[in-house]
Amino acid sequence: MTAPREAPTISVVSPVHNEGAGLRKFLDRTVTALQSTGVTYEILLVDDGSTDDSWDQVLAAHRTIPGVQGIQLSRNFGKESAMLAGLATARGEAVVVMDSDLQHPPELLPQLVAAWRRGADVVEAVKRTRTGQGLLNRAYSRLFNRTFHRLTGVNLTDATDYRLLSRRTVNVLLQLPERTFFFRGTSTWIGFRREQIPFDVSPRVAGASRWRFRSLVRYAVNGITSFTAAPLHLVTLGALLFGAFAVVLGAQTIWRFLQGDAVTGFPTVILLLLIQGTLILLGLGIVGEYLARIHDEVKRRPRFVVARSTLTDVHDGADEGTP
Ligand code: UDP
Ligand code: MG
Repeated sequence: MTAPREAPTISVVSPVHNEGAGLRKFLDRTVTALQSTGVTYEILLVDDGSTDDSWDQVLAAHRTIPGVQGIQLSRNFGKESAMLAGLATARGEAVVVMDSDLQHPPELLPQLVAAWRRGADVVEAVKRTRTGQGLLNRAYSRLFNRTFHRLTGVNLTDATDYRLLSRRTVNVLLQLPERTFFFRGTSTWIGFRREQIPFDVSPRVAGASRWRFRSLVRYAVNGITSFTAAPLHLVTLGALLFGAFAVVLGAQTIWRFLQGDAVTGFPTVILLLLIQGTLILLGLGIVGEYLARIHDEVKRRPRFVVARSTLTDVHDGADEGTP
C-alpha cells in the first residue's frame, strides 16, 4: 500500500471522450494557467470509454507532466458519470470541472480561483456568447432552458459545466443519493455562496461534438424528471381541464337530444377520440418516464466502473463520497 496522495489546492477534473487529437494542447494551456496562479494542483483526466488513442495520450501525459493523473472507465458511461468519477477521486480543496475540448478556455482558471479565494463556494463560468453552437442547437437549448426554469425554478440559461466547487460543496454533491447525476442542475440547486464569471465559448479544437438530437432529448428528459414532478401535475391538470370540457359537451349533447336534435355525427366523434387518445398517451408517457427513473434508482447500480487508473486510491461508483 502506498500512502494516500497529498491534497493539492486545486483539482481539475476533465471528462475525455475521443479527444486524443487535442489533449496535449488542452494540457499545455491548462498547466500554464494553473501555474500562473501559484497553487498546487492535480489534473484528473477521466477517459470515458474512448475508442481513439485518448488513453495512450493520458498515460503519456501522466509520465511527462507532473500532476496529471488518469482514470479510465470500463466503457462509455456518458459525460455526467465521467465528471462524477473525477469528483469522487479529486482530493483538492477546490475542484474545477471543465471540458477537455478547449471550449472552456483554461485562461479563465485564475479568475475562478480568485473568486473562490474571495469566499465563493461555487464559481460558475457562464456563457456570454455561443461560438460553435449551431442555430438549431441554440433554439433547442433555449426551449430546454425555458421549460426547465419554469418547471423547477432553477435557471440554467447561460450555465455551463465549467465550474469551480469548494470542498464542502463537492462533498454535498457526492452525498446526494440519486443515481441519475445532473451536474449542472444539482450543483446549482445545492445553493451556497455563488459567483459568476462570463466567458466566450470557443469552437472545438479537434474532433466533433458527440451530441445527437436523440441524446439531447434524453438529457433534457433525464434532467427534468430527476429534478421535478411538475409534468405529473400537468397530467392531472390536463385531466381536470378535459373533464370540465367533457361536462359542458355532455350537457350540450343531452340538451340537444331532448330537443329532438341529435349532435351532428362523425366529425365530433373523431375529434373527441383524437384529443382523448393523445392526452391519455401523453399522460401514460409522462408517468412512464417517472417509472423508468424510479426503476433506475432502485437498482442502485454504481454510476460508473473504473477499469484502470494511474492512482492507487480510486473509489468506484459504489462508495464514492466515503472518506
Ligand atoms: N464527453 C464525455 N463522454 C461522452 C461525451 C462527451 O466524457 O460520452 C466529454 C468530451 O470529451 C468533452 C465534454 O464531455 O470534454 C463535452 O463534450 P462535447 O464537446 O461532445 O459536448 P458539447 O461541448 O458539444 O456540449
Ligand atoms: Mg464541446
